[in-house]
Amino acid sequence: MLEIEGLTKRYGATLALDDCTFSVAPKRLIGLLGPNGAGKTTLMRCLLGLVVPDGGTIRWSGGPLGEDRGRNFGYMPEERGLYPTMRVDEQVRYFAMLSGMAPAAAGRATADVVRRVGAGDLSGRRVEELSHGNQQRIQLAVALVHNPEILVLDEPFAGLDPLGVDQFGALLLDLAADGTTVLFSSHQLDLVQDLCQDIVTINHGRVVLAGELEQLQRATARRRITVVFAAAARRNWTAALDGVTVEKAEDRHVRLSLDAGGDLDRVLHAARTAGPVLRFDYQPPSLEELFREAVGR
Ligand code: ADP
Repeated sequence: MLEIEGLTKRYGATLALDDCTFSVAPKRLIGLLGPNGAGKTTLMRCLLGLVVPDGGTIRWSGGPLGEDRGRNFGYMPEERGLYPTMRVDEQVRYFAMLSGMAPAAAGRATADVVRRVGAGDLSGRRVEELSHGNQQRIQLAVALVHNPEILVLDEPFAGLDPLGVDQFGALLLDLAADGTTVLFSSHQLDLVQDLCQDIVTINHGRVVLAGELEQLQRATARRRITVVFAAAARRNWTAALDGVTVEKAEDRHVRLSLDAGGDLDRVLHAARTAGPVLRFDYQPPSLEELFREAVGR
């Protein structure tokens, strides 16, 4: 378990992290969300020990993180930190040795990790010859070569094409299934919704929404409702209903959102008196809706 409590970081007058508290269960994929300037990078840098917080504690497996936290963490920064003209295997081995491995062990770990990220056939290629998606794999190999328990990635999906997103997402899921705790920042909320079990959202340095995504969705009484009528329905059939906002209304297709004060059964009843209902679907809010609500836009 990674436990963050009361984490605070100030840059002059800017409170970049304001009393952040949340915890992350092991072997999970966690999405770190927040608008630009929210404090995500500062939070990741505090975890990695690159920034010293002004207050708060970070604990892993019940104990405080020490000076040797580099062994617990793997980090993939947003800007690529690879040497363009170096060969893939030389590069990964170089970082393995920087992390303290002896040459022979570094060679073995390199071969293993390059295979693990699906780049075995790229070993002899120079980094500058690779596609963006393949460079991301090598960057991931570098972050993983010392076999860390926690992997932190800053915007790993930025700039990847849809196929690259699928492949990289599958890699992260495999890592989590194998026991690594994976925390990554992203602005792609649909992607986070598909991949992550847990999310942490920060806004102006404060944690505004954190926990298991399904639980967060279940915990809100709000629902999105789609009604499809077999023939044109009576107009304005929703007018007398409390807590309902009409998002789209055509003769046969109506989309509504129901807030916490609304009553789903009453909406269904009203729909059935307005016309022949062919379909009546309701869903919890998407991550994007929860996010907009949490950051107040
Ligand atoms: P995010 O990664 O969510 O975009 P950051 O953690 O980079 O947010 O920034 C949080 C706040 O802290 C912003 O207001 C940013 O301007 C400020 N900040 C970040 N790093 C520094 C720094 N080294 N010096 C001064 N202010 C900083």
